[in-house]
Amino acid sequence: MFWTVQVSALLAFAVPFTWGMLALWAVSHFLRAIGLTLCFHRYFAHRAFQMNRGARFFWTFVATAAMQKGPLWWAGHHVNHHKYADRDGDPHSPAVSGVYYAHIGWFLNDARYDKIEASNPVIRDFSKTTAPEIVWLDRCYFAPPVMLAAAMYYIGGLQWLVWGFCVPTVTLAHATFAINTVNHMFGSRRFVTPDESRNNLFTAIMAAGEGWHNNHHRYQRAARNGFYWWEVDLTWYTIRAMQALGLAWDLQPVPARIYAEARLQSRAESRRAIIGRASSRSEAARANDQSPRAGRRGYEPGAEPRVREAADRRSASA
Ligand SMILES: [Zn+2]
Ligand SMILES: [Zn+2]
Repeated sequence: MFWTVQVSALLAFAVPFTWGMLALWAVSHFLRAIGLTLCFHRYFAHRAFQMNRGARFFWTFVATAAMQKGPLWWAGHHVNHHKYADRDGDPHSPAVSGVYYAHIGWFLNDARYDKIEASNPVIRDFSKTTAPEIVWLDRCYFAPPVMLAAAMYYIGGLQWLVWGFCVPTVTLAHATFAINTVNHMFGSRRFVTPDESRNNLFTAIMAAGEGWHNNHHRYQRAARNGFYWWEVDLTWYTIRAMQALGLAWDLQPVPARIYAEARLQSRAESRRAIIGRASSRSEAARANDQSPRAGRRGYEPGAEPRVREAADRRSASA
């Protein structure tokens, strides 16, 4: 089924493209991306805030329509990702099991780490007795995507099915899976963490705020993954709007000590950059002194950039 939907995205070339269809793709992609991030990730896996039962059912339904299995399965595996991050036992780590397995393989062939232990906090917290509607969605996780696909086809035929379901389901799958692969390989590291997590603007946009993954690995409990106003986090804005409407409360903040740690890291980083620049300048000056032309004609401004470039190349390769 996974591969059928992946291939079905190619139907985009067979149906007419309009800007309206692009808007339909965006709504279907980003609404379900927020569902996954807000509900499966920040709520079920990390308990980053509390929400009203009706809102919880709505977002669980939207997220389950992403076709990434059920909420308890998703969040339970995610908790294990943090527990073993980039070590043996991590369900999806490019460092442990390779890029293909970490991106797609684990989702299809999850026998290796599929057994979520009864002590897993997600399973423990959402047992049958506390939330039957969540357990139902977890068991019948195929129902919401089927209902979405049927609704799209009913409203606008094949064109709506393709742009409202097939294409966005595929782009959303890769946006989510990229957090497991791209965000453990490419990007910047604000915090020193024992794993390979990185911050990446592109995945932050495509996965509704999840791309600030190094922030998140440093402090998982926060309701926001973008720790600063300039770190775009669609899910955080949605949670704040829900809070304003009284639908969400107990939003877990980023503690002051984490911001202090970020400031310290950035100061240490700029010190390292200044020392690096100073040492390459003194290396360049030495090289200039040793040049036979320098001895003959003194300082030559035109010679310096070439020497500095060479020094930069040397320090970059060091
Ligand atoms: Zn991670
Ligand atoms: Zn997480």
